[in-house]
Amino acid sequence: MLRFLGRGSAFAQEHNSAYFEADNELVLIDCPMSSFAKLKAKALASFSHVYVLITHTHGDHSGGIGMLIDYIFFVVKVRVTIVAPSKEVCDDLRYFLKNIEGCNDAWYELVEAKDLDKPWLSEVIPTTHTEELAGKCFGYSLQIEDRKVIYTGDTNTMEPFEKHLTEGTALYMEIASMKTDVHLFCEEVREKVIDYVAKGVQVFLMHMDNEEKIEAIMKGTGAVKAPLDEVDMEDNGKMLNDIFGITDSLYKDMCMSDHKDHALLFSYLTELAKIIVNADRASFWKWDKRKGELWTMSATGVDKIVIPDSTGLVGKSLRNRKTVITNDPYSDPDFNREVDKKTGYVTKSVLVLPVADINGSFIGALQLVNKNDDKGFDEVEDTRKLSLAALVCGIALESETFLEESHHDKLTGLKNRMGFYFDFGGKFKEYLIPDSGKTMSVFICDIDKFKRVNDTYGHNAGDDVLAFASHLIESACGEKDSVYRWGGEEFVMVMRDTDLAGAAEKAEAVRVKLMESDIDADGTIIRCTMSFGCALFDPEKTIEENISIADGRLYTAKETGRNRVCFS
Ligand code: GH3
Ligand code: MG
Ligand code: MG
Repeated sequence: MLRFLGRGSAFAQEHNSAYFEADNELVLIDCPMSSFAKLKAKALASFSHVYVLITHTHGDHSGGIGMLIDYIFFVVKVRVTIVAPSKEVCDDLRYFLKNIEGCNDAWYELVEAKDLDKPWLSEVIPTTHTEELAGKCFGYSLQIEDRKVIYTGDTNTMEPFEKHLTEGTALYMEIASMKTDVHLFCEEVREKVIDYVAKGVQVFLMHMDNEEKIEAIMKGTGAVKAPLDEVDMEDNGKMLNDIFGITDSLYKDMCMSDHKDHALLFSYLTELAKIIVNADRASFWKWDKRKGELWTMSATGVDKIVIPDSTGLVGKSLRNRKTVITNDPYSDPDFNREVDKKTGYVTKSVLVLPVADINGSFIGALQLVNKNDDKGFDEVEDTRKLSLAALVCGIALESETFLEESHHDKLTGLKNRMGFYFDFGGKFKEYLIPDSGKTMSVFICDIDKFKRVNDTYGHNAGDDVLAFASHLIESACGEKDSVYRWGGEEFVMVMRDTDLAGAAEKAEAVRVKLMESDIDADGTIIRCTMSFGCALFDPEKTIEENISIADGRLYTAKETGRNRVCFS
């Protein structure tokens, strides 16, 4: 039935303007200037013909026609027909259009309604409005989708329309909260509306001068406000408010919260993306090219998952370096049905936007699932709306990757000294508070006579030994333990909720295991030992002082024969 680009009077932001679609043709009823921008977004090029049905020549009803003709001629190249309700209005429009620059009469057709043969146009209904428009103001009886539709246009009386109001008719009537001689005053027509509804007429209110007031007065009559198109100012206002709510929280969390990290950033950004395009779910994926895997960094509505990059629509988007849109995922061979199968969720539409790092290499993708309307995602509109969120996700992911890399050592894969200090600012923080009752211990260890390995078997062999020892220490790590490459062939383990004896025990286990291991050092099997110094972490002392205590004990271990654990 009818949709509205605006439903306000001449004084509103969005003037009254309705449309419907029939057989791939678009029919506008009146064309105020305020509808023009919205029409641009309506993919006019997809219609074979545009008709503009005019009710009268007040500026808020027909002032946008020139602009529309101009735009359509230069940009979308669709045929336009302006339909006038009478000869007089037709003449006025001809005069008007002929005399405005940039509106060549070869670009449009102007016809009188009586000469137009269209199944949707049943009858022109003359009515009365302002004095100047006497005899030149009309409403319409239309036939849309097997439904009789009465459209009053501007009128100061319902009298000419009443005989058309039979059961099942959809009546679109103008209504005003202000009492004047030229419009239907809501308090006066209230009873009539109740009668119409009782007769089985569906009543829609339009061309309103004050929606709130009219709504309050018409409450209980059964009449509803004319349905606005998706690009509704009210919805936009609410959406903008939601968007600002998220960006404000994000800003505050990033500036003021102690517990901030990239995960927080991604969760805000995916939530933002979801709201912007009105989707049911959103997720952001990191592409680990080396492992050939895709990771969810943040997701709304799904658990964190890891999948091979050769599968799914996210994989397809990244492999092809292109946005992927499907509003029929089940017919796309790349769509992974397993998640739906497992969870019972039904995916109806998917949009994947790949994101790049500063060098233009794709590193991740933003995925939106199930647009909350029956039309699905729109490639042009939705990707345009998502662009900023996708861009920020890309920059955030790159920054997260840089941070991760700067905290890790390439040879062993262990965290380095920067990672060590980062963890002390984060996960170990509560263990640094004096008298907290929390216990933490550390050990520092160093490979014995490691220089000799390098000198005897070469640097590559030395590297192999380092990698082997680091993996061995890492495999001894419990859930609350963390290990770091402290320097050349030195490692530090931090053990939360572990006392000195526990630390010494762990060190001893590592020592024995390494001592008994055959290590393939660049093709030669060799053996190695390590010395350890352990310390109970004292929160009254600095991190460096604590490490220095452990280091002193490591020195003692070296001095007293190596391949041993010292803890006092
Ligand atoms: P000690 O038992 O007293 O610890 O003797 P050491 O030989 O292990 O100690 P020293 O400090 O004399 O030598 C450490 C050697 O570790 C010197 C350095 O070249 C080597 N090294 C440091 N980092 C690396 C690395 O990344 N790869 C290799 N192959 N060698 C490294
Ligand atoms: Mg050494
Ligand atoms: Mg050393």
